[in-house]
Amino acid sequence: MKILLLITCLTSFVLQSQGQADKSSIDRKDLKAFVKILTSDSLEGRGTGTEGQRRAGKFISDRFKHLGLNTYHQDSYLEKFKLNQTYWGQVYIKTQRTTLKNFENMVFQGSNVQNEEIDKEIVFGGRGTEEELNQIDVKDRLVLVFVKNLRNKYDINRKLAQRKASGIILANPGNEKQFESIKNTFKEHSLQKRLSLPNSDTAQNTFARWDTIKFLNTITIPNSEIKNIFGRSIKELTKLQEDNRIKEVPIPKAKVKFERIHNEIETANVVGVVKGNSNKSIILSAHYDHLGKSGEEYFPGADDNASGTAALLEIAEAFSLAKDLEYNIVFLATSGEEAGLLGSLYHVSQPDFDPKNILCNLNLDMISRIDEKHDNAKYLYCIGTDQSNELDTIIKKADSLFDQCSFDYSLNNSKDPVGLFTRSDNYSFYEKGIPAILFFSGLHPDYHKTTDTVEKIDFASLESRVRQISLVIELLQREGLKN
Ligand SMILES: [Zn+2]
Repeated sequence: MKILLLITCLTSFVLQSQGQADKSSIDRKDLKAFVKILTSDSLEGRGTGTEGQRRAGKFISDRFKHLGLNTYHQDSYLEKFKLNQTYWGQVYIKTQRTTLKNFENMVFQGSNVQNEEIDKEIVFGGRGTEEELNQIDVKDRLVLVFVKNLRNKYDINRKLAQRKASGIILANPGNEKQFESIKNTFKEHSLQKRLSLPNSDTAQNTFARWDTIKFLNTITIPNSEIKNIFGRSIKELTKLQEDNRIKEVPIPKAKVKFERIHNEIETANVVGVVKGNSNKSIILSAHYDHLGKSGEEYFPGADDNASGTAALLEIAEAFSLAKDLEYNIVFLATSGEEAGLLGSLYHVSQPDFDPKNILCNLNLDMISRIDEKHDNAKYLYCIGTDQSNELDTIIKKADSLFDQCSFDYSLNNSKDPVGLFTRSDNYSFYEKGIPAILFFSGLHPDYHKTTDTVEKIDFASLESRVRQISLVIELLQREGLKN
């Protein structure tokens, strides 16, 4: 017993002196405890900029402190940054007989903001043919058009934009139910609060990108509101349209407001460092934010990405006492990933961030489930190895040294039809020319649903996956990358 202990001590001494991790500390019980904490009610789904997320960040930061990690910034593990938050406020059209309110009796889609209430006239544009539009003055007015399908609105949008209309109101008299379907399709997306980094280029911001196309605001209404607007029934209006007499339809006045609210919010990445001998770093990242709440329900995000965050904490522990590391290991728990990779973008955009000092990025996002292509959890997708032959060699070596898990390379680059590689933080590093790898266990039916819960995780398999990733870091420490 004693002899055995002595041998163990010696071995671990030798391993430690070679800059290896104490992998005995990687433990499924810890992983489970971390995922449980991150998915607990009080963290409320870790929505970026919320109190729940701030608590999650504090938990990670306390853990880094407990492990004795070095800070990345002066005296705090928190890498705080500001985000612009925008969302629709009061959006309505008031006429004499009715008030149309967004996602009640109208659906507003557009990007032309009108923060103060103004007067607008509404003119009937028939079916929106060139001939009809030539008969009326649409300039600076809202134009109500009857369409056969509320979803095909681009042609009419283009025509009315050319004629300098102010906006379009669409109704489909032939289909009573389509309005409700449009409302359900767009509600969640449209009412979402959008986040962006201040001064980020417009390509990062779908909202701004939309604006550059110069679409007119498009308002969809249910058929029941048509008569309230014009004081004429659908039947009367249809008759006038068929008789080519749309000019005779009255032009009601309306008060309109399309208010966009802007706030500044603060959030933080959490960064801890285990120092190596060189000034180069390996960045291990995992996003700890998730989707927050939807009404009273919250999104636990156990797989997405409490799993990767828990793994990050376990790997930090395994390396926290490692001696004589060649490269620094930067443990980066990012915020704002779900809102557009904002935390990692912020991290790589800081003036003192030099891509030349980064050996590579290993990113963990959703690593605890089994997808439909596999029948057991002894796999992990490893995406991006085709960027660097050396990295590819090291990863394949780690793969061959450990038999509890095999990397699956089938989603590399061109074989990644839904662009998974571009959808997580590794992409922010990749865009800076840094070799970046995404570790991922695949999409599943609970993805971005309130059913992404802790009970669905097999922690024994997660532990194996974490061990295999640790092995990759050990080999990188030993062999480096010459690029
Ligand atoms: Zn996600």
